[in-house]
Amino acid sequence: MRQTPEQILKTYFGYDSFRPMQREIIDSILQGKDTVVLMPTGGGKSLCYQIPALLKEGTAIIVSPLISLMKDQIDALRANGINAAALNSSNSESTNIAIRTACEKGEIKLLYVSPEKLLSEAEWIQMRIEVSLFAIDEAHCISQWGHDFRPEYTRLGALRELFPEVPIIALTATADKVTKSDILEQLNLREPAQFIGSFDRPNLSLDIKRGYSTKEKMRVIMEMIERQRGESGIIYCLKRTTTEEVAEKLRSKGIATGIYHAGLSASARNKVQEDFINDRITVVVATIAFGMGIDKSNVRYIVHYNLPKSIESFYQEIGRAGRDGLPSETLLFFNVQDLIVLRNFAEESGQKDINNERLNRMQEYAEARVCRRRILLNYFGEITDRACCNCDVCHTPPQYFDGTILVQQALSAIKRCNENIGIFMLIDILKGVVSEEAQKRGYTQIKTFGVGRNVPARDWKDYILQMLQMGFIEIAYNDNRHLRITPLGEDILFSRRTAELATIVREEPVKKKRKAIKETPAAPKKAEAGTLDSILLELLRIQRKRIATENNWPAYVVLSDKTLHELATKKPVTLEAFSDIHGIGKHKLEMYGETFISIIKDYLSK
Ligand code: ADP
Ligand code: ZN
Repeated sequence: MRQTPEQILKTYFGYDSFRPMQREIIDSILQGKDTVVLMPTGGGKSLCYQIPALLKEGTAIIVSPLISLMKDQIDALRANGINAAALNSSNSESTNIAIRTACEKGEIKLLYVSPEKLLSEAEWIQMRIEVSLFAIDEAHCISQWGHDFRPEYTRLGALRELFPEVPIIALTATADKVTKSDILEQLNLREPAQFIGSFDRPNLSLDIKRGYSTKEKMRVIMEMIERQRGESGIIYCLKRTTTEEVAEKLRSKGIATGIYHAGLSASARNKVQEDFINDRITVVVATIAFGMGIDKSNVRYIVHYNLPKSIESFYQEIGRAGRDGLPSETLLFFNVQDLIVLRNFAEESGQKDINNERLNRMQEYAEARVCRRRILLNYFGEITDRACCNCDVCHTPPQYFDGTILVQQALSAIKRCNENIGIFMLIDILKGVVSEEAQKRGYTQIKTFGVGRNVPARDWKDYILQMLQMGFIEIAYNDNRHLRITPLGEDILFSRRTAELATIVREEPVKKKRKAIKETPAAPKKAEAGTLDSILLELLRIQRKRIATENNWPAYVVLSDKTLHELATKKPVTLEAFSDIHGIGKHKLEMYGETFISIIKDYLSK
């Protein structure tokens, strides 16, 4: 008798229940309907077509834009005992021939192809293959609106007519309306069933730190890396030079770090990506170019060293953390220089209005003083009024004080300099720094020179940023980025109204004895039953790495972090108990059961 989707989920993938919407999507495909799936990264889109592919006769054809993505999926399927393959230009011709023959015999359940390959093979497929379904992964590549546009994708519109009987499933993690309607139209889908998942990722913490110096940023990053000892992370920077500087600092502390940006050769970039996926390097410091080809499920932290240029890219980038559902950290640094640089980019870009608008939204998010997740979800059209308790605002709600005098001091200095100064000169004047420039322009003579010398320069920077946020001042981008006082600012300057400022909170460095990261903690004790045992986890991790290396697979393909954690918590010593662990299907039970059980037994007996 044919298996049910639930049985397939358990026997092949080792999971007990479907995530929201997966079951409905699978049903829609099994009924032969065209189907559109919008779900965030890590939401579990792949299973939605993989299970129907296993249930239906014939071969499912999956269109994917990148060879690295195909490889990752195929490794994961094979690790679960499912026969999948990719036809692509990086294979030898004899491999491709063998794959074609296997498809003709119906031995391959899932065949991955690039869009151009699909169209060049369309005739062969029509003649020789029983196609169970077409899945178009990363379907947003069809839209010119987004940043991943691939002209080849637009030709996929021909599929609907070429294969009138076969359901087409389009999947993407891009949520905006323009992209969605582009997908529907260009693929010529037939009354498609549409599934739009929640874009909430509750396992990702959201944290923003504003106005940090380079030194402080590095300190916070190091603390995070120590907290996440040995786990993978990505640090995104705005500029190539910054990626190099940050990587240099991390390497000097003994952290295996890779650099990734568009200025490197394709082979250098590939190597970094491979090293990262296979846990040979811990951290990648990258410009935004890094990520699309990464399906790594155990990325534990994402840092934005600078403000990203839009909420879309920000959300996509943090989405690369915690795909396995385990808690993961995200951290965004943001300061006024970032804003100036990004504003210039936007002004000089071909799409000035759109890019300025995108940056405005990003800036509002970074400056907001309500639950960050709430803002993000509302932005993606999921209206919610709940606070998440997993963001910095929920953890430490901002406190305010009457900052009228401080604001007046700053505004008065701007006024007395005829609005001819930028942020840094303003701070110099407030602090009473006698610079050549200030002397030359006579600023050392004005009444406000030095009135704010008791406030640290970095705090002034923060207050000035707050004044910008609250609309007391503006930056004249078309006039050397000089500061201008707004009518609202005038009201405060002339004491017609008061101004509240948020108290600056800066954590002190975590005080503790300096320890080299590579060192293991001193003689840890065995954990109690039912709690995560970190020593056992380490032993399991070593075994996983061994298997991964033998098979040339990433470690998370052998067993996910979540599976490893469960093993180190529940400590199963029978095959039956082992098979109850998250992510253990029939194949992994047979392949790895004995080995891992014996490690656990051995450990428990000591
Ligand atoms: P997406 O393609 O949407 O980014 P994936 O399909 O890669 O997400 O799934 C993310 C992770 O979640 C994978 O490790 C996958 O095995 C796991 N997963 C998917 N569905 C389930 C489920 N029903 N139960 C447990 N884990 C799941
Ligand atoms: Zn929150």
